[in-house]
Amino acid sequence: MKIEDGVELARLTTLGTGGPASAFARPESEQEVEELLQWAERRSLAVAVVGLGSNLLAADDGVDALVLRLTGELASVEVNGDVLRVGGGTANAVALHRARAAGLGGFEFACAIPGTIGGGVWMNAGAYGGDFAGALERALVATAEGSAWLTPAELGLSYRHSELRHGQVVVRAELRLRPRPSEEIKAEVRELNMRRKDAQPTNRRTFGSVFKNPEHELSAGRVLEACGLKGHRIGGAQISPKHANFIENADRATTADALALMAEARRRALEHFGVRLEHEVEFLGELELAEL
Ligand SMILES: Cc1cc2nc3c(=O)[nH]c(=O)nc-3n(C[C@H](O)[C@H](O)[C@H](O)COP(=O)(O)OP(=O)(O)OC[C@H]3O[C@@H](n4cnc5c(N)ncnc54)[C@H](O)[C@@H]3O)c2cc1C
Repeated sequence: MKIEDGVELARLTTLGTGGPASAFARPESEQEVEELLQWAERRSLAVAVVGLGSNLLAADDGVDALVLRLTGELASVEVNGDVLRVGGGTANAVALHRARAAGLGGFEFACAIPGTIGGGVWMNAGAYGGDFAGALERALVATAEGSAWLTPAELGLSYRHSELRHGQVVVRAELRLRPRPSEEIKAEVRELNMRRKDAQPTNRRTFGSVFKNPEHELSAGRVLEACGLKGHRIGGAQISPKHANFIENADRATTADALALMAEARRRALEHFGVRLEHEVEFLGELELAEL
């Protein structure tokens, strides 16, 4: 199996930032994933998976890890009765398309989540009242020691959270759906996409919601908007003028620019609302937010 070095993570993240990975591979089967995990373990090298990079901030000076991108049969879809068998690297959009064609509903919530099944399980992605925890029957998780099927409870799925750790790779998953006319699915997806377009900067390079919603009457976006942060810019990164819980790559942004904006946003949210915002975006490499 080919292991490359120097692959720029900026090419693999939706924000378009991030330096090189010290090692990079595209496994096509569970066996290849296990072999790669063992290869990394022998070298005491950390492992991370990149799905579509839509929830990732990767360090500008690179990441000292074996970075995997699942492909081949690990990015496939198969329908079996009411169950959608998907690879960990399958794009949500592809899975949803197949579900709709098969007349299976229950995955519509994922229509505007531009990631993969593995990335969705990792952080229990969700929208419009649905999430992976609600659709997932079980996921096959590979480690250097072997693979095991885990249920949502065993994965510890809760609001934008799982108990998965780097080195555990979601290679396959089964989604339990229910019969629904394709036309109904299509209409709901169209509706949800329109709502999304109205509210979020869907035509910009972003990584989705920056912060989780706090335990507060206002959402993270509303808190940041009330702090006057819409349009605030540091370097090439700016808080979206359309939705304050998004950071856009306005002009050759770096991860350091995005991180500086996040630090400023957290500082203001604490100062004006007494709210400690927790980031939703995942960090890859040596990245840290300043203490509040
Ligand atoms: C415009 C936009 C809108 C968005 N809207 C939403 C939304 O409504 N709701 C929502 O929840 N999110 C949203 N997001 C964020 C993002 O799309 C989701 O979090 C998505 O699930 C990330 O999937 P990914 O494959 O891109 O993961 P990545 O960003 O590539 O990775 C995220 C994390 O998952 C891990 N990971 C990825 N694949 C695997 C795997 N196979 N096995 C183990 N770990 C893995 C990575 O190591 C990393 O820690 C949005 C993002 C954008 C850009």
